[in-house]
Amino acid sequence: MNNNHVTVLEIDSHAVLHNLAYFKQKLQPKTKILAVVKAFGYGSDATEIAKIVQDHVDYFAVAYSNEGITLREAGITTPILVLHPQLQNLKDIVAYRLEPNLYNFKIFDAFLKLADEKPLMNYPIHLKFNTGLNRLGFWHTDVPNIITELKKSNNVKVESIFSHLAASEDANEQEFTIGQINNFAFIVRKIYKHLGYKPMIHILNTSGVINYSKAQFDMVRLGIGLYGFGNDKKETSKLKNTHNLKSIISQINIIKPGETVGYNRAFVASKTTKSATIPIGHADGISRKLGNKNGFVLINGQSAPIIGNVCMDMIMVDVTKINCNEGDEVIVFNHQKHIEYMAHKCETIPYEILTALSQRIKRLVKR
Ligand SMILES: *Cc1c(COP(=O)(O)O)cnc(C)c1O
Repeated sequence: MNNNHVTVLEIDSHAVLHNLAYFKQKLQPKTKILAVVKAFGYGSDATEIAKIVQDHVDYFAVAYSNEGITLREAGITTPILVLHPQLQNLKDIVAYRLEPNLYNFKIFDAFLKLADEKPLMNYPIHLKFNTGLNRLGFWHTDVPNIITELKKSNNVKVESIFSHLAASEDANEQEFTIGQINNFAFIVRKIYKHLGYKPMIHILNTSGVINYSKAQFDMVRLGIGLYGFGNDKKETSKLKNTHNLKSIISQINIIKPGETVGYNRAFVASKTTKSATIPIGHADGISRKLGNKNGFVLINGQSAPIIGNVCMDMIMVDVTKINCNEGDEVIVFNHQKHIEYMAHKCETIPYEILTALSQRIKRLVKR
C-alpha cells in the first residue's frame, strides 16, 4: 500500500532489541526464544519486527496461516509456528513451510492425511495441550491415541509440545498456574516415554518468564514483553517503549465562549479556547472512550486533552495553554505509562491498545 499518511507509528528497533536482551538475561543460555509476531506484531509490523529480531531468536509464532505467509513472502526463513491453523489452510501451511499447531484430533487427523498423501517426510508439527485455559488443545487423556497415530507415520515429526498459561501475570493464581505447569510436565513425561524421541517443550509467555522462570523448559514464547510491557510496573520500567505514535496539527481554531467543538456539540467552551485538530480517529484505533478529556496527546512537551467526541478520522485537543502552530508534531503516545493510562481509561489492557492501531497508520522503523 502506498501510504503517505502523516500519522505515523514509529517502531523503535533499538527498544525491541533492548527488550529481547532483557528477557534473554532472565533465561538459561540454552533456552530458545520464540518471538510472537501475531496481529501485525502486536499492532506494529510483523515483517519489520521479524527482520529486527530474526538473528536473535529461534522461532516465530503467528496466530493464522496468512500471517505466516506474509513473513515467508518477505523472505523470513526462521521456523514459524502457526498457533491457530484451520483445516482449509493446511495446504498453504505446507506450501509455505509453516509449522502447524495441531490442537485436536480433527486437525491432527487432517494433517496426517495430507502428510500421507503428499507424502511429506518428518514434517515439523507442534502439539498443544490444554492444561486449564480451556481454549485450544488436546486433553491429557488424548495422549495414548496421539501416540498410536504418530507411531504409524513417519510423515511428521513432533517438533514441540506446548501449553499456555491462563493467569501467569496474576500472583493470586499462583497455585493454579503451578498446577498447570505440573500437569504439563506430566503429559510431557508420558509422551517422552512412548514416542521414542524428545520434542522441545514450552509453556511460558512473557509474564510466565517473569513469574515462573523455572518452567522455561526448552523455549519461551515472548509476545508483549518484546513490545515493552512486563505485566508489572517494576518489569515494565526496565523495558523500552517500542510503539511511538505521532501525528501533526492540521488546523488550529479559536473557540469563543458558548461555542462547541465536534460531533453532538459534546465540548462546550466555557471560556475562549484554542483547539487543535489532529488527523487520527477511532478508525485508527483511538477509542471513543478517550474523548471528552479522558485521553490526551503531547504537543511541544505539554499535555493536550482530547475535547469533545473522537471522530472517525480526527480528534480535537485543547491547546489553549500551549504555544503551537499548524504543522507541529503531536505525540499520541511514546511511553508505556501513556499507553497504560489509555488502556485504563478504555477499561482494557495495553495489548488491545496496540493491536487496535489500524493499518491506515503509516509504519516506520527507527533504526
Ligand atoms: C499470544 C500468545 C503468546 C504471547 O503472550 P504474551 O503474553 O504476549 O507474551 C504466547 N503463547 C500463545 C499460545 C499465545 O497465543
